[in-house]
Amino acid sequence: MAMESAYQELAPEPALVAMKGGGEGKKKRKQKKGGGGGEKKECRLVSYHELPDYMKENEFILNYYRSEWPILNALLSLFSWHNETINIWTHLLGFVVFFGLTVLHLGQYFPQVADLIGHLSWPISKVAENVSSNIGDVLSGAASLMQTVNPAAGAAMAQTAAAAATSTRWPFFVFLAGAMFCLLSSAACHLLSCHSHRLNLFLIRLDYTGIAVMIVVSFFPPIYYIFQCEPRWQVVYLSAITAAGVGTVYALMSPKLSAARYRAHRALLFVGMGLSGVVPAVHAVAVNWHEPRRNVTLAYEGAMAASYLVGTAFYLTRVPERWLPGKFDLCGHSHQIFHALVIAGALAHYGAAIVFIQARDEMGCPAM
Ligand SMILES: [Zn+2]
Repeated sequence: MAMESAYQELAPEPALVAMKGGGEGKKKRKQKKGGGGGEKKECRLVSYHELPDYMKENEFILNYYRSEWPILNALLSLFSWHNETINIWTHLLGFVVFFGLTVLHLGQYFPQVADLIGHLSWPISKVAENVSSNIGDVLSGAASLMQTVNPAAGAAMAQTAAAAATSTRWPFFVFLAGAMFCLLSSAACHLLSCHSHRLNLFLIRLDYTGIAVMIVVSFFPPIYYIFQCEPRWQVVYLSAITAAGVGTVYALMSPKLSAARYRAHRALLFVGMGLSGVVPAVHAVAVNWHEPRRNVTLAYEGAMAASYLVGTAFYLTRVPERWLPGKFDLCGHSHQIFHALVIAGALAHYGAAIVFIQARDEMGCPAM
């Protein structure tokens, strides 16, 4: 088989063992005492065929696996090259970006936090001010491009951007917190699941939980702000997606569903959850048809949906590594592309959330 022969071709090039130690020869191996009984564990990168069954996930990635490494070595492998390095760093950096955005917005919406940050050595609050005003500029620029330009409305928008927040912020922070949880649990899963079967199972479940949480919390800003004046729809949609999330996590707790052969089933569960957002989206567009920011938010949410769906397609098809097994082990394989698209989708959704908040701050709710 093509894959077999590709593997044999690569086999003599022994798993980049030397990459960790600065290239001092292929026989270099790191030894580390195991945690408990003083038993020595070997830390070298191995090929797919040397992996225990539970780690055999992608037969098109042939080399550079860490297998059953002690936890400390697994942690330190954050700073070395193996086939999970980019998977870890993409979501770790994504986490840092969302953490930064959370701090910026906490400073923006809650002056006490800005003051607290201001007392720290670095004036983050100033940066928060600049960045948020930049975001404001970009968004109001985009909004005015999409609508027929009305200078009075533009001035009103600028005014409200400067004014104090009028609608509640917790749904927005729920989204930011959920995104951080998802990205951090994913990074932890990619970093540490090479340690043992038990930890692998736990971290994979944590990773699935993180994805379900990300999908559920993504519903919060749009549903909350769009239907703020019709709370029954908030309750209907937010309870429905939360129930779907809990059900999905419950189903994925079964070790059977964590098996590699159920990859498509798992992906379909998540895609189904995400696509259920079409129902409130159609509802929202119908009731806000004349809202000038409709097109901006649709563009952001369209970009989010496209990123997630294309990412899932990479995840499922395992392109490009299936075409050239072994050639994308370290860089360029499908899971890395999937991760990058998840970040892009989450950032697009963040952009939409900012527009929803601005719109709601501006419009409020008509008196009942
Ligand atoms: Zn991943």
